[in-house]
Amino acid sequence: MITNRELIDRRGQSVSSGVSTSSPIFIQKAENSEIWDVEGRRFIDFAAGIAVLNVGHRHPKVVEAVRAQLDAYTHVAFQVSGYEPYVALCERLNAIAPFQGPAKSILFTTGAEAVENAVKIARAATGRSAVIAFTGAFHGRTALSMALTGKVAPYKRSFGPSASEIYHIPFPTPGGAAAADTMKALGYLFAADVPPERVAAIIIEPIQGEGGFNPAPPELMRDLRKLADQHGIVLIADEIQSGFARTGKMFGVEHSGVEPDLVTVAKALGGGLPLSGVIGRKALLDAVEPGGLGGTYAGPPLSCAAALAVLDVIDAEDLLGRADAIGERIRSRVSKLSQANNVPPIRGVRGPGAMVGFDIVDGRTGEPDGATARRVVEQALAKGLLLLTAGTHGETIRTLAPLTISDEVLDEGLDILERALVAAA
Ligand code: PMP
Repeated sequence: MITNRELIDRRGQSVSSGVSTSSPIFIQKAENSEIWDVEGRRFIDFAAGIAVLNVGHRHPKVVEAVRAQLDAYTHVAFQVSGYEPYVALCERLNAIAPFQGPAKSILFTTGAEAVENAVKIARAATGRSAVIAFTGAFHGRTALSMALTGKVAPYKRSFGPSASEIYHIPFPTPGGAAAADTMKALGYLFAADVPPERVAAIIIEPIQGEGGFNPAPPELMRDLRKLADQHGIVLIADEIQSGFARTGKMFGVEHSGVEPDLVTVAKALGGGLPLSGVIGRKALLDAVEPGGLGGTYAGPPLSCAAALAVLDVIDAEDLLGRADAIGERIRSRVSKLSQANNVPPIRGVRGPGAMVGFDIVDGRTGEPDGATARRVVEQALAKGLLLLTAGTHGETIRTLAPLTISDEVLDEGLDILERALVAAA
């Protein structure tokens, strides 16, 4: 039997240090909300491949759809010949677009690519170049999406000059900026750096993912919408982490009642296969000249087939309702734990649907305690639960259980979380 240790050593010798892995295990197989490592140990998966497996690992409907597609063709490039699953998926995405009026879509492969292309579409449609993003945001690691990401270390520090005409304003967080501060900062930005008529787009995660599961206040979303309308700015909702039932709605932005102009999607859409896209107002998606967007692998057939199955599963299994039920179970359990005195101090249990996070803080100062949060994750892994952190200091424990998880396995995972918290105290 091959061991994790052997594979960690081989990885150390052969794989760039630039990619980090948060757990010291190598996977053998996975099924719904459970995974097994190469040594045969079982883990409950509260990471879901970073918010990808909303329908669980290897959902039978997804596997069946991909198998059927595999038997027909795997690649032709949409730029060479069309294929129905691409068009069918765009039709489905247009039908669920979180705004009124006609929609169109375009497909890519990774989240960063979707973000880059949303900005390209906004620039082409407006003839403007500046883009406003938020502190704590994560939009990807390619040159432009890295520039939009609002966290220097480790994402930007070593990688040279940033793309120009990208500006950051504070994202409201508990204990940080309030929504009014954000709008004030935007006013300063317009006065000091860039006039609104040069701004192509504002890009925002309706619920920040890597930034710590902080929802954007609805009043901020409304103010941004008003400002975007006033100045002809394109409002982009990055739904790459919050999309496809994770928050109890198809898209996180729906909680605010605000309609964006463009929506970036990826992760859960492909059900484990690489796929991303931009859904948007028809006039914007048609503002780009043919050939300006695309990619050899953009919207690959196997991934489109998987995504059509994912959307079917979300409907058939009422995963919107299930996300709320799962989230409620997690929130009530963690809230109860936050009253206990044998666990590290827990603050700010939050997040809509099953996008639930909470912070580990220092008991004396109330400051974020990333070191203890990391210990919680290590203890959880040792006891059979895969968890992730988020937040500026890694202080947020985030739960991203598949929405297909059973109550039994969910409770087993929460039991492990409790024991991990006690062990890390
Ligand atoms: N936007 C958001 C909100 C994300 O959470 C991520 C990935 N964590 C990305 C963009 C980038 O996606 P990818 O890693 O697929 O490029």
